[in-house]
Amino acid sequence: MLISNLNFMNNNAVNELFPETLQILRDLISFRTISGENNLEFVNYCEKKLTSLGARSIKTYNKEKIQANLFSTIGDDNGKGIILSGHSDVVPAISSDWTSDPFIARDNNNKIFGRGTCDMKGFIACTLAVAPLFASKKLSTPIHFSYTFDEETGCLGAPLVLDDLKKRNIKASACIIGEPTNMKAITANKGYNEYITYFTGLSGHASNPEVGVSAIEYAIEYSNKLLELRNDLKKRSNGKIFSPEYTTLQIGKISGGIGANVIADQCSLEWEVRPINKEDSDFVNKSIEEFTKKILLPKIKKKNPKGNINKIVIGEVVGFDKEENSSATNLICNLTGDNSKNTMPFGTEAGLFQNAGISTVICGPGSIDQAHTVDEYITYDQLKSCLKMLISLREKMI
Ligand SMILES: [Zn+2]
Repeated sequence: MLISNLNFMNNNAVNELFPETLQILRDLISFRTISGENNLEFVNYCEKKLTSLGARSIKTYNKEKIQANLFSTIGDDNGKGIILSGHSDVVPAISSDWTSDPFIARDNNNKIFGRGTCDMKGFIACTLAVAPLFASKKLSTPIHFSYTFDEETGCLGAPLVLDDLKKRNIKASACIIGEPTNMKAITANKGYNEYITYFTGLSGHASNPEVGVSAIEYAIEYSNKLLELRNDLKKRSNGKIFSPEYTTLQIGKISGGIGANVIADQCSLEWEVRPINKEDSDFVNKSIEEFTKKILLPKIKKKNPKGNINKIVIGEVVGFDKEENSSATNLICNLTGDNSKNTMPFGTEAGLFQNAGISTVICGPGSIDQAHTVDEYITYDQLKSCLKMLISLREKMI
């Protein structure tokens, strides 16, 4: 078939599928899938749609069984399937800040507003809308739909999916992560590590600081060490892949103490690292642990044997490294006709899929500028571009 004919047919298919896509997106927005909360209604909705088309679905759950990942497959497995991957969770929304209810979709000016529209229920709606097309003809390789929970809070769901795939010996040739990139290929992203460090001191009357141990003062010393490491990280940059090009470190929250006249016995620091590579991640962990063990902790213990410093890992998400000659990136560039390639300074599930041996690319509808914002939206045009890409993908697979 002539390319222009194919283009014409695909545009027609886009227009046919678009109203259904909007309807699905409206439904998905109405499920309040805030990270950490129940997402079963969302998962059951997607599962029902896919199984009605003959897909085989597997769900993996969190410990309390109130959150699930859905992994559904259309087509016979041959180890070369393509994964369309999205996260079901959204960041919280404070209704009073929004023009309208964040969990009721609102259309205005060829945009659809609502929490998760661009990050990333818009992409999931497109995949569900195109699913009947994938199911309508025999596919040369299977298509997998992967919807995870708790991506926003440290990618807690995706590792369960990947473990399950390994157990079932299911392999895939490519994974498309539909995070909002304006449908451009993103070929690398930084990792994301989040920590809380708790300091325990000894309370006492402020008039005699020598009798107590101020947890706040130790938290300050610890912070100073972190800031020193932050400077070291700037010098360790290994090229201009990212912006900023080096590993960043940030202290986001400090809590402790009850007032000026009491020695604080408790303090905590919440901090994060966005490493450009695993070496930097190890460097920070090793350095701060050494500092704690050799310098700070002995100092606290000397004044109060019960004093303590405890660093908790909230999440450590591996970065997504640039693949040489990536088949997933080539596939996306081929489908969208756009050869531009960029990187992102924030974490996604891409590194996890890549570490599982699956060639991965990030490409999805909407702009990251709207993600996590008040009055989050996605444009109709971006949804249509995504539908077009998925329809072209299906053409390649029949
Ligand atoms: Zn996202």
